[in-house]
Amino acid sequence: MDAVLDLDADERRRLVAGAVGNWQATPKIPSPADHPHLWPLPDAPGLGVYSDRNPREDGRPFCSVSHPAAGGVCGESATVEVWALPFCEIHGAEAEAAALAEMWEDACKSAEAAVQGGREAWRKNAALLYTLRRAEHEAQGNEQNRASDHEDAMQAAYADADEAHTDSDTLQYNGDPFAGSPVDWWRETRLAVCKAMREAYEGGLCHAEDLEPLREYATVQEVIALRRELSRTPA
Ligand SMILES: [Zn+2]
Repeated sequence: MDAVLDLDADERRRLVAGAVGNWQATPKIPSPADHPHLWPLPDAPGLGVYSDRNPREDGRPFCSVSHPAAGGVCGESATVEVWALPFCEIHGAEAEAAALAEMWEDACKSAEAAVQGGREAWRKNAALLYTLRRAEHEAQGNEQNRASDHEDAMQAAYADADEAHTDSDTLQYNGDPFAGSPVDWWRETRLAVCKAMREAYEGGLCHAEDLEPLREYATVQEVIALRRELSRTPA
C-alpha cells in the first residue's frame, strides 16, 4: 500500500489516466467514441491500472480486502487499483463497479438538482433547459446501468457471504415499510462510504485505506440483505 500511496501527483495522474483496466492490458482511456451514449464525466478519479513500477518484494501488493465479514484477508495478488488501493481480479471488479456506480449516482443527483434548480430561472431559455434535461435523462440511464453492473459484481465477489455475519440491524428489521429496508440502508451506507473514499482519493488523502473495511462490511451486508429479501419474496 505504501508504495502506491507514496506516488507523487504526476505518477498518480498517470495511473488514473487508464481509468479502468487490468495489470497487463494497455490502459484504456474512455472516449465519447467508445461510449457514445454516455454523458461525459471527467476522468474517472480513483480508478487505475495497477502498475508494476512499484513492486513489493513479491512483485505485487496483496489485495486490500480483509474484513472478516468479507471472508477475511484475501491474500491474492493485486491486479487492479481503485481509489489507489490494490485489489485482486474478482474483488477489483466489484470495487471498480462500486466506484463507477457511486460516481454515476452522484452525477445523477447533480443533474437532477440542476434541472430542478434551473426550471424556473431558465424557463425562457428552452435550449438550455432541454440540454439539462437531456443530461439528466442520460445520467439516470447510466446510473441504473452502473447500479445493475455493481449488483452483479457484488454478488459474484461475495457469493459465499456467511449469514453468521448478518448485522443486528438487519436481523431486527420487522418489515416496517416506513423504515425502508435493510437493502436500502446498506446500499445508502455503501454509496456514502464510496463517495468518501473517492473524495479522499481526489484530495490526495490516504484515508480511503481506512474506509475500505467499512465499505466491505456494508457491501457484504447488502448482499446478505438482498438474499434475505429474495427468500421472503413469493415465487
Ligand atoms: Zn481479493
